[in-house]
Amino acid sequence: MKKLSFKKGWLPLDGLAFTGDRDFPREPVLEIFTPREIALPMLQHSGTPAIPTVREGDRVTVGSIVGKPSSVRSAPVHAGISGMVTGIETVRLADNTSCKAVIIHNDLKRELHSSVKKRMYPDRIGRDDLWKLLDYSGVVGMGRDGIPTAFKCRNAERIGVETLLVNACQSEPYLTCDIHLLREQTERVIQGAFVLSGLCRVKRVVFCLLDKWETELSALQNSFHKYREHYPDRDLGIRLFRSRFPQGFDKLLIKALYDVELPVEASCEEAAGVVIFNASTCAAVWDMVERNQPLTSRVISISSDTAIGHNVLVPIGTRVSEILERVPGAASARRIIMGGAITGTALRSTEVSVTKTTSGIIMIRNFEPPKTACIHCGACVDACPVGLLPYLCEQLLRADEGEAIKRENIRNCISCGACSYVCPAGIDLSARIGKAAERSRRDR
Ligand code: SF4
Ligand code: SF4
Repeated sequence: MKKLSFKKGWLPLDGLAFTGDRDFPREPVLEIFTPREIALPMLQHSGTPAIPTVREGDRVTVGSIVGKPSSVRSAPVHAGISGMVTGIETVRLADNTSCKAVIIHNDLKRELHSSVKKRMYPDRIGRDDLWKLLDYSGVVGMGRDGIPTAFKCRNAERIGVETLLVNACQSEPYLTCDIHLLREQTERVIQGAFVLSGLCRVKRVVFCLLDKWETELSALQNSFHKYREHYPDRDLGIRLFRSRFPQGFDKLLIKALYDVELPVEASCEEAAGVVIFNASTCAAVWDMVERNQPLTSRVISISSDTAIGHNVLVPIGTRVSEILERVPGAASARRIIMGGAITGTALRSTEVSVTKTTSGIIMIRNFEPPKTACIHCGACVDACPVGLLPYLCEQLLRADEGEAIKRENIRNCISCGACSYVCPAGIDLSARIGKAAERSRRDR
């Protein structure tokens, strides 16, 4: 099969060195993590926050709704444990913004809400009912975007997109939660993708994964013949991409597939006729359809340079501090990152909760702050997937050279973090360039 890619980028290790040479990406997902308490933020998606629907003293079970959407671009929030609501508090999120959160104390019974039941014939549900299920499910983009999935589907249907891409190109070195789902629960991901393709009215479903995932490729190919018979009206395909960072970014997928360069702010639906969902999102949609299970927990990768590496199923709302209590060596980490090691957010406090968009928690023990000035090695230039000269952009920004900055097209930066990660001088290029790019796009 032909391998697609974009120019430049960076070829990371698989995280093996980072995890003590254990085969972290191939190990099974661990059992569900059981927290003592969860704090469920009402804002875990892009859009307006949910509104709490419970009060202190209420009892909830797994799947109970605790927050209702406040607009069409919002999403309900559901409890991932059973227990007692102990309060509604204002909490800080990883990006240092704040919102209301429902605090639930775990009674350790894992009692399911009465509505969560396996359906006899999930593939016979009509379109109107599927929309209702998706609206209620609380599913949002579980990669970086956090867009409510129902909102994204309606938009795709309105525009009339032709292709749905299932993005399993998790290209950050220490994140493998999506690829685990694809390997261990292949059918769940495929079924969810078909539900979404029906709602968006697309005719083509394409699974995108990196060339190194051979087992996952076979799992997909083995399942395909069944779905080709079941959905004869849909064209089903797989595309392989070279393993390089940041291949998983939506605009770089489109560049590699269609050789079209979209501006950062362009909508993939409008500009390319493509709607993209990641593998975790597809699986969560199928849970709602198959057994009326809203999104209450997710698989996250926990990894560090203290030889730990696991994928764990965690109730959404679990505080990072409670997870770290059970991770050997976590106390010696100098930096805790939520998300990927490259694109994630370094936490100021570990009291933040795992949300629907948290793909990992990475602990860095051997973090070295910046050491030297630029040594002009050119590594950042080789790594930048959109062809910028990050060392120059950073220097111009520091010197506030307005006109020269414009000429360098900084607005094209996709904040992928590759330049900072490869810089041997430890200069955080992407933070400065990414912020300037956002400003430039806003002011346009
Ligand atoms: S963060 Fe921006 S400048 Fe740096 S490599 Fe990515 S796109 Fe290029
Ligand atoms: S990678 Fe760092 S040291 Fe090398 S050219 Fe870029 S900014 Fe300079």
